[in-house]
Order: sequence, then C-alpha cells, then structure tokens
Amino acid sequence: MYDDIADPVDRLVEGDADKTRLQVYRRGDDWYCTFNIEYDADTSGETPIGVDIGERHILAVTAYGEDESMLVSGGEAKYVRRKYRSLRDSLSEAGALRARNRVGDKEQRRITDLNHKLSRRLIAFAEQFENPVIRMEDLEGIRENSSWSGVHSWHFHQFQQFITYKAERAGIRVEKVDAYHTSQRCSACDSMGTRDGDHFSCTECGRGRHADLNASENIAQREGEPCTA
Ligand SMILES: [Zn+2]
Repeated sequence: MYDDIADPVDRLVEGDADKTRLQVYRRGDDWYCTFNIEYDADTSGETPIGVDIGERHILAVTAYGEDESMLVSGGEAKYVRRKYRSLRDSLSEAGALRARNRVGDKEQRRITDLNHKLSRRLIAFAEQFENPVIRMEDLEGIRENSSWSGVHSWHFHQFQQFITYKAERAGIRVEKVDAYHTSQRCSACDSMGTRDGDHFSCTECGRGRHADLNASENIAQREGEPCTA
C-alpha cells in the first residue's frame, strides 16, 4: 500500500472515517476502485500564526488565541530599494551599463540578506508557541493587489520561499490561505470595516486595531492549503 493512503485507510478500517463514495470500473483488462473518505484532521492544540506581508510593515504577525503579535517596519527594504533604484537610474543615464548591472547584483544580495533575517525572526516568533502552523496569503492574491507586482515580486516570492523552507526545517507546517478581503474585514466579527492609515476600525462591532495586525488575525483564522518549499 502507498504511504500516502495508509493513514486514511487505517482510519476507515478502524471506523474513524466515513466512506462517502465508492466506484469500481474497468479499463481494458484492469479493474480499478476509487473511494473518497472523510475524517476530521487533528488540529487541536495548534497555534495558528497569521502572517501579513506588506510594504509599510513588511511583517505583521499574530499568534491567534495567544494575544501575541509582532510588527516589523518595512523601512529597511524600502530604503534598499530606493537607494539602488536611484543609483541604477543615474548609471543608466550615464550609459554605464556594466556598473548598473553590478548595482543590481548588490541590491539583490541586500534584499536576500534581509529576507533571511526576517524569515529567521518569524520562525523564532512562531517557535514560542505550542504546535505552531504558519498561515500566509496565497502569492497570486498578493501580486494582484499592487505594490508587490512587477519588479518587486521576486523579493516577495523569495521571502515566502525562505519562510517556507526555514519553517519546514524547524518542523513547522506552512499553509497558504485565500487573500480575499483579509485587510478589509474585521477580524472579530467579519464585517467590512474602514481603514485610516495604519488604523482599522469596524463600524459593526466598534473594534479598533492596527490595520496590518487585523489582517494577520484574519489570515490566522482562515482555512489553509498545505504549502511546500
Ligand atoms: Zn467587527
């Protein structure tokens, strides 16, 4: 038996799971059997760690149910990008293309270092809690909503990759969640709220919260899909 299906089949045999559909069919001389089973995943005792990645705050993290959060300013990444962009622009104007490319390599190294540093901080934060599971927004969803698109998307993509493989190495599961409305909805009552700068307020239940932390709380509460490096 394949390893992948050993566990579900054991559960089925032990009566912990329901068989929902069984099909037997024939293709040529071979007979096939497929079935779906349903069982509850054991997620008790897990601490969802919601991670919002943005520009003003490169990391907004909430350990859901633990009342602990972490906010990291996006200033350093912004500074690196701005510095090298203006350097590149002036070198391009001067026609110094080789020098311009070297600047590009340097920027890449700076951003890579930063991504290593930030992903280590995130893993250290997550490791404080019992059975942490890291939840992040789906990459495609984030790309759509603006600032990470185009030239900066590799920064973001690399950051997510670093988080994922460092988490795996630390034995922490990583899930990606649907990014839809994570920053517009109230993390307490799920109503649409309003944002004023860094502040999110809910018109329905009156809750006020740092906007990026509100988003990270929403991310922590969403059902995720497994994500592998
Ligand atoms: Zn609310």
